[in-house]
Amino acid sequence: MTMFKGKTAIVTGSARGIGQAIALELARNGADLVICDVKAEWLSETESLLRELGANVTCKELDVTSAEATQKVINEIAEENGRIDILVNNAGITRDGLLMRMSEEDWDAVLTVNLKGTFNCTKAVTRIMMKQRTGSIINIASVVGVMGNAGQANYAASKGGVIAFTKSVAKELASRNIRANAIAPGFISSKMTDALSDEVRQKMLEAIPLNAFGTPQDIANAVTFLASDNSSYITGQVLNVNGGMIMQ
Ligand code: NDP
Repeated sequence: MTMFKGKTAIVTGSARGIGQAIALELARNGADLVICDVKAEWLSETESLLRELGANVTCKELDVTSAEATQKVINEIAEENGRIDILVNNAGITRDGLLMRMSEEDWDAVLTVNLKGTFNCTKAVTRIMMKQRTGSIINIASVVGVMGNAGQANYAASKGGVIAFTKSVAKELASRNIRANAIAPGFISSKMTDALSDEVRQKMLEAIPLNAFGTPQDIANAVTFLASDNSSYITGQVLNVNGGMIMQ
């Protein structure tokens, strides 16, 4: 597939999980991939899977919480690849706990990676995409950022913030033909969901009309759509990928 031939895509937090699936799907559709994570050595698995697909791939060590490091890495990518077409802000963490027991440290850690990290990367690509007069920014939010969740006040606030941030950026950059959208995944299969007891799994599935957890590939497919010209008239939206868990 050549949908993204000659285009450069950056995926943050792409050492594993959903970020890895996103990087692979963009590569299958012809994009040149820049994969990043906190430690460069964690990227080796994603890198070899991308190379098996025959993709052009660059690995960058990037902790998105540092504005300075982020700008430096994004500038390097722009110089090396000549352009940045797609940014997927996927890096994210959880530090769950009830509000009464939530430490300031856990609040700050989640807001700093999930929300400030998204701000840092988006700001860093803006000038480059504005010059090109084209770009697609996709922020991975969460169903929890739309509906809230007991025990995840910090995470829900960060993802709700990502959604409001996305809409604001979409308004600021639309005149330069830069689109910004968010994806709100529901429950996605992972090592964490695999480890749940049958009883807990069953309870979670009861809340999902399609009666199944999503897969990282479901999110990767949604990202591919929002990154492509097939969504050229869509900006400032939240795409819910949740098996019908919430309907808006
Ligand atoms: P994972 O924890 O499997 O992967 C996230 C990646 O981001 C990890 O490699 C992680 O590295 C990296 N990361 C963490 N902090 C930083 C940082 N400061 N800078 C750069 N990279 C960082 O998560 P998932 O694949 O499950 O989730 C991906 C995204 O999807 C997240 O934004 C998450 O909030 C969102 N999401 C996930 C859902 C799910 O059910 N899994 C549901 C809804 C949303 P490290 O090894 O250090 O943690």
